[in-house]
Amino acid sequence: MIIQEDLAFDQSNIWHPYTSLTNPLPTYPVESASGVRLKLADGTELIDGMSSWWTAIHGYNVPELNEAASDQLSKMSHVMFGGITHEPAIKLCQKLVEITPEGLEKVFLADSGSVSVEVAMKMAIQYQHAKGNAGKSKFMTIRNGYHGDTTGAMSVCDPDGGMHHLFAEFLPKHFFVNQPKKRFEEKYVDEELGQLEQFFRLNSDKCAAFILEPIVQGAGGMWFYSPDYLKKIRQLCDEHDMLLIADEIATGFGRTGKLFACEHAAITPDIMCVGKALTGGYMTLAATLTTQHVAETICNGEAGVFMHGPTFMGNPLACAIANKSLERLLSSNWQDRILAIEKQLKRELLPLGNALNVKDVRVLGAIGVVEMKEPVDVPKAQKFFVENGVWIRPFRNLIYIMPPYVIISADLGKLTATIGEYVVGEKVR
Ligand SMILES: *Cc1c(COP(=O)(O)O)cnc(C)c1O
Repeated sequence: MIIQEDLAFDQSNIWHPYTSLTNPLPTYPVESASGVRLKLADGTELIDGMSSWWTAIHGYNVPELNEAASDQLSKMSHVMFGGITHEPAIKLCQKLVEITPEGLEKVFLADSGSVSVEVAMKMAIQYQHAKGNAGKSKFMTIRNGYHGDTTGAMSVCDPDGGMHHLFAEFLPKHFFVNQPKKRFEEKYVDEELGQLEQFFRLNSDKCAAFILEPIVQGAGGMWFYSPDYLKKIRQLCDEHDMLLIADEIATGFGRTGKLFACEHAAITPDIMCVGKALTGGYMTLAATLTTQHVAETICNGEAGVFMHGPTFMGNPLACAIANKSLERLLSSNWQDRILAIEKQLKRELLPLGNALNVKDVRVLGAIGVVEMKEPVDVPKAQKFFVENGVWIRPFRNLIYIMPPYVIISADLGKLTATIGEYVVGEKVR
């Protein structure tokens, strides 16, 4: 049981994501979670609007996933992947090859999203090196992107949001283009794409790859952009002998209404990262997929191998749960579910766009975003949401939800209504 002293220790000694230990923000002790509800230590139940950061697509405490975990535990929790293989990893990689865009055939299992991004970047570097393009050792990316918190990944995150000046001597420098302006629903006209062409002409000789989040920029600002832009980047990468890395860690496994966001633009990247929802939110696991051509080139290069191999690579427990999670997802009517969530989010959130303190409201698939004009007072908003029985965690000026796919209409309605109450009452509180 958690007592007051434990919570005091938590505040003073344990770092939570992006927090201070001298000026800590409140944390809420969760005791258990089931379906779409988190249960706090004091018995309060909260409807989950976050899917624990894109992951818990089936909700929590899912009997089938629990069973897959305990079955695997009774066989083995972990064995090394060097010189050993096992069914959970093989089945998972077969499935990933089958469901990801055509041409992605070779799989590297990584232990977190950030690691899968490091792996993708190293693949691109080894690929260009093997082709004799050793000068192509930098990356292009989009401002306001987010690719993880490890050093390589961080170096391609938004330079301001990621505080690159603070790490200036440490981080490699890359090439940033402005965020695409056109919204998801909009078509592109030439002007902005012309700037993109110019950017490639100037910098492509120094760049191994373009890394981006397809269609949805997540933690860098929750922005949904036009598929035309993604198509153009694909074309420019081909013209300039650069690889395209699609970071589908947030968007993968149905969240945007397609199984993978690249499908909105009908493109295949050369390298693709998946993570987050891969195990249905049960465990950390990610994967980096690439093509026959890239894999072959890397393996014919100087090193003769791909230079990466984490201790917990291919963890059988995580793979077994991922297999069950994917089976559950793919055998469900997920497309109808996402469409229904999208319709309801549009109906219930878009009217908030009229509020004076709201800058923009946008919805894509099972993602709803209310962008405020001013930064949200997060502890205050969080308290309001908890008191009203929902779990929603804003950041900066964004109040956003991406609920488990299994959420029923009444629970989703409670999430959107509570956001509405917060927005309308913000000035009063
Ligand atoms: C969350 C996220 C990552 C990092 O994944 P971790 O598992 O937190 O390391 C990378 N890219 C995108 C797009 C993400 O949303």
